[in-house]
Amino acid sequence: MKDAKIILIGAGIGGLTAALALQRRGFKVTVYEQAPQLGEVGAGLTLSPNATHALESIGIGGELARLASRPSRQGVLHYRTGQILVKEQRGDLAKKQYGADYYQIHRADVHGLLADVVRSNDPTAIQLNQSFIGLSQNGSSVEVIFANGMKTSGDVIIGCDGIKSEVRAALWGNVPPRFTGNIAWRGLVPIERLPKGFKIDPPSAAAVGVKHSMARYLVRDGTLLNYVAFAEKTGWEVESWSVRSEVSELMAEFHDWHESFRTFLAVTPPELCFKWAIHDRDPLPQWTKGRVTLLGDAAHPMLPFLGMGAASAIEDAVVLARAFQAAQTLDEALSRYEAARRERATFIQLASREAQGRLQGGKVDAYTKKEHKNEEFLGLFNYNPATVAV
Ligand SMILES: Cc1cc2nc3c(=O)[nH]c(=O)nc-3n(C[C@H](O)[C@H](O)[C@H](O)COP(=O)(O)OP(=O)(O)OC[C@H]3O[C@@H](n4cnc5c(N)ncnc54)[C@H](O)[C@@H]3O)c2cc1C
Repeated sequence: MKDAKIILIGAGIGGLTAALALQRRGFKVTVYEQAPQLGEVGAGLTLSPNATHALESIGIGGELARLASRPSRQGVLHYRTGQILVKEQRGDLAKKQYGADYYQIHRADVHGLLADVVRSNDPTAIQLNQSFIGLSQNGSSVEVIFANGMKTSGDVIIGCDGIKSEVRAALWGNVPPRFTGNIAWRGLVPIERLPKGFKIDPPSAAAVGVKHSMARYLVRDGTLLNYVAFAEKTGWEVESWSVRSEVSELMAEFHDWHESFRTFLAVTPPELCFKWAIHDRDPLPQWTKGRVTLLGDAAHPMLPFLGMGAASAIEDAVVLARAFQAAQTLDEALSRYEAARRERATFIQLASREAQGRLQGGKVDAYTKKEHKNEEFLGLFNYNPATVAV
């Protein structure tokens, strides 16, 4: 097992976490990434305790604690009045309740940390400029082909190549993801751009609205305010994180929102304001075919309304590595991985769809703790990928 040639396609947060988790258990991995250089978009990411457990188990808990913010409190806000509808304690309480912290972090910080550690373990582990286009397998090995004509073979292939996964297409057919009718704007606002005395309280919040919702929180020691603002809107369907938007378009879309939101939206640096059309796929009844499987968004892309997509990819990664450690054969490893993960990932995928209705359904005035069936209420924090049965 330990001399197996394991190939990962895609060096996003899922692929890199899997690479590190496998390295930590003595496996040699190669990650092929299409981009010419490694990087993540400028945006925040919530790491709930279930994801923190996973990252701590692969030895990066200390660095994570240094880089991440740990909000003391969270709330749900009314879009038009800005008033708080639901209050939640985080900080020490999250650690006490779930055994791991609830963090918020700049995506590039966690991605960069993972890449650094993977490379320090093996400087050749990440191969850039390699765009996967196809594979063929014969039961005991898999040949993969890249757009530049290069071919290589491995004993196992893990497709970690995101929502538009070519590995998934190679296994299960080329079905394009479906536009959900939601646009997300994301922005990062340097705190010094906000008017003097402007309060970001609580430090982490979601806001419920009518066909609109928002999440906003502080990252990088409170120096940046990260937000994602959602609107139900058709007519523009580009699935990419790197499409710039005009701040004026965002302001027009959120014209009836309270000043406590419009104030920070208005001062978004134009070069840090992006929009993105949210796409979705139905759950797959099976992830693995032969010696090839899927991980993260490639396996189970999720709407961002529970903020659990990256967390689920991180969970997959640690469970995958534990399955490799526990199994006698590679086929057994893949089957243990999928058996341990598919039901939970499918549940979160479907629950993320339902969350849209609660956040944007328009019942804002009646929104109370009872309506607030968020990821914590659904029990998703009570999961430890480092100890769950594989
Ligand atoms: C607005 C928004 C907010 C979000 N907020 C949160 C949150 O707070 N918490 C949370 O847990 N999740 C959140 N998510 C979800 C999260 O971003 C995704 O679920 C997560 O990034 C998936 O990671 P991944 O590694 O599976 O895929 P990706 O991050 O998409 O990485 C895929 C990688 O594969 C590479 N690749 C693609 N095709 C190929 C190919 N053919 N060959 C080689 N390489 C390839 C890509 O370049 C990329 O590096 C959010 C998503 C959005 C859009």
